[in-house]
Amino acid sequence: MNADKIHGCKCRNCGIELITLNKSSDTYCRFCGAPALMAEDFDDTAAPELILPFEVSKAQAKQILLRHLSQRPLSSAALSQKVKSGFIREVYIPVRVADIQVTTEVTVLENSGNEKSKQIKSESSGANICQSRMFDEYLFRLLGEYDFSRTVAYDDTYASIPFEKPSGFSMDLCFDELEGASIKEALESLGDRKTIRKVITCQLIDKKENSKTVLVPVWILSNLSNGYTDHIFINGQTGRIVGEPPASIKKALAIFGGIAAGCTLIGELIWMVVNGL
Ligand SMILES: [Zn+2]
Repeated sequence: MNADKIHGCKCRNCGIELITLNKSSDTYCRFCGAPALMAEDFDDTAAPELILPFEVSKAQAKQILLRHLSQRPLSSAALSQKVKSGFIREVYIPVRVADIQVTTEVTVLENSGNEKSKQIKSESSGANICQSRMFDEYLFRLLGEYDFSRTVAYDDTYASIPFEKPSGFSMDLCFDELEGASIKEALESLGDRKTIRKVITCQLIDKKENSKTVLVPVWILSNLSNGYTDHIFINGQTGRIVGEPPASIKKALAIFGGIAAGCTLIGELIWMVVNGL
């Protein structure tokens, strides 16, 4: 698949850029629900190569959401109604998946006065960083692990569902973690506090990466109210759900009103007991 230009749209409300390889009939943004989509072409974006297909169907996603909402007595009935009428959307978000390798070198001075060095090469496969504007790393981790061993080649059968345009990314976080672990391993192999007087150098010698973008599946329930958008997300591979529905003021008043009335009643009973009535 090698088109010169990739077609898509941008949301004027949340700024998300969505790519649709098949012409999309969407009028509402899949992320925020606003009717603010503008057609846009992306010159700088390649067609995707890899994808983790949805394993959670729409019917299953609806069930998961309805169970989640039913466990939250303050969530509004309108939100559950929205789910029942199928107002949830699927989208793919881009994740950079990499095999990375770092080599570090540690040099220490031993108590005996000798210098000793150790090089350690550490590897990590399947390190990943989310390339979505909607999902920062924290939110992405809340969705739980995706099993990247189930990655398949992207083809036209997936083109009916839009995916988010990958944003700039950096594997630095993954490298930092691996570098830290590698230095620790090198230090441990050189001895302990009793034998080492001081660490002379601790450095990164080399780093390599072999990375690809994989589209991963997410179900989204968005609720636009008072200018804010609340989201509930479902990992489209595992069914893990993330996000809290907004509290319905009406329900909160009904529940707390009930508690207040109960308190008044108990107060009166205590008063009656105390006064021997
Ligand atoms: Zn939007």
